[in-house]
Amino acid sequence: MIRLPLVAGNWKMHKTIAEARQLVPELVYGLQDIEGVQKVLCPPFTALLSVKALLEGTDIGLGAQNMFWETEGAYTGEVSPKMVAELCQYVILGHSERRIYFGETDEGVRRKVKAALAVGLSPIVCVGETLEENENGKTEVVVRRQLEEGLRGVELEVDESGGVPLLVAYEPVWAIGTGKAASGEIANRVVEEVIRPTLASLYGERVAQAVRVLYGGSVKAANAAEFFEQPGIDGALVGGASLKAEEFIGIVSAAASSKQRQLT
Ligand code: PEP
Repeated sequence: MIRLPLVAGNWKMHKTIAEARQLVPELVYGLQDIEGVQKVLCPPFTALLSVKALLEGTDIGLGAQNMFWETEGAYTGEVSPKMVAELCQYVILGHSERRIYFGETDEGVRRKVKAALAVGLSPIVCVGETLEENENGKTEVVVRRQLEEGLRGVELEVDESGGVPLLVAYEPVWAIGTGKAASGEIANRVVEEVIRPTLASLYGERVAQAVRVLYGGSVKAANAAEFFEQPGIDGALVGGASLKAEEFIGIVSAAASSKQRQLT
């Protein structure tokens, strides 16, 4: 099964509209000739509309970093699935920073995943263990629970193009923004031994093999190839390094060459 690699930049709470207007043209220019990789930018809500305009006519997709599950109503400060779908194709859900700082639960993630799929968005569902859980040998239990609970009752099928409209990002919390990435081999083991088998138990082997699984956690141009060389890893969710054009372009380019090599 061939899964098209995808690299998404999670800008987190960075970049004003003015700053985005400087960065995006540099990205568009540097990414235009890189083929065989889906590229996605996930700016803050405030910059989505401007970034969308700057991406017009390019093959770069747009994603939001969060959304609420309700359709509309008195939810001050929230943004609905339909509002996100007006602008974006993707939405990051269950990021560890949302779980840690904003009390997001597996149940909340599940509601959001269902709501995202219902409006045609592709959710990028983040899972991953904390340092403490990792040191206590709980990685498998935690990642499996996050997937089983976060996807319970969510229907997924392989579409005509052979894809599934949901991605999983394995992001060990201890590797996010710390400069301490997991090794490619360890990340791949979690993907192959925990994530895909859990997806297979929920949806069967065909869907499990079609879901793209990204790695996230201190990916930069210099270490990206180590992850993309792994057969189970289909791309990356990139935080800090996605704020610098040269770094992000380097990561996408590494994805293109590694995955191309695997096909030949
Ligand atoms: C992220 O925000 O999803 C992430 C992986 O951050 P960083 O690349 O900065 O570790």
